[in-house]
Amino acid sequence: MLTYIVLLGPPGVGKGTQSKFIANELNLPHISTGDIFRANIKQGNELGKLADSFISKGQLVPDDVTIAMLRERFTQPDCKNGAILDGFPRTPAQADALELLLNSLGGRVNLVLFITAPAESLIERLAGRWTCRAQGHVFHERFNPPKVKGICDIDGSELYQRDDDKAETVLNRIEIYKNQTAPLIQYYTERKLLTEVNGIESIEAVSAEIKSVLKKVLPSG
Ligand code: AMP
Repeated sequence: MLTYIVLLGPPGVGKGTQSKFIANELNLPHISTGDIFRANIKQGNELGKLADSFISKGQLVPDDVTIAMLRERFTQPDCKNGAILDGFPRTPAQADALELLLNSLGGRVNLVLFITAPAESLIERLAGRWTCRAQGHVFHERFNPPKVKGICDIDGSELYQRDDDKAETVLNRIEIYKNQTAPLIQYYTERKLLTEVNGIESIEAVSAEIKSVLKKVLPSG
């Protein structure tokens, strides 16, 4: 059976962390469009340069570029049973494109987990977030500190602070979320796919809540 789960929510709410948990639970790939853009930026290729010109300002990368990139990611063999989508769709046009794409693959969005948290806590989470250079593992100086400061527990690479996690860009990202991404709450509510999860609790408590939602919603979950 094909399973597609979308994680929706403002920047810093824990979509990436919880996506990895779900991907592990369901043995499906975790697809983060932000991670794919960052990998291209690191490689310094054309897509990376283009994406960086938007990401560094906290703006969304244009829909046509993002949709084409996702379509290409779905052709990889690890996506044969579905995927956990983190940070895509981010606009109603992307959601429409996703529906068409999944139709063509014989699947559909099975569940949208909408993770929420108040704006103040998002700013605190993003400002304290440290990301690993090699593979994008994520830590937080208070909520999930690495064993050794500045070093990734998992692969030993350097931890850095994302440029777009700095204060001015964060406010812009939250604003863009409200204007461009929040309409997806209604979009997926109308389709009866949305389940809200309170993201303010600890990582483990949010994962436990998500696990119980998966059990209810997915036949084999
Ligand atoms: P994230 O890692 O999900 O926080 O994404 C980081 C940045 O990448 C966002 O602020 C956007 O600039 C860009 N980005 C990621 N996903 C998308 C998307 N689905 N559509 C447009 N831009 C995106």
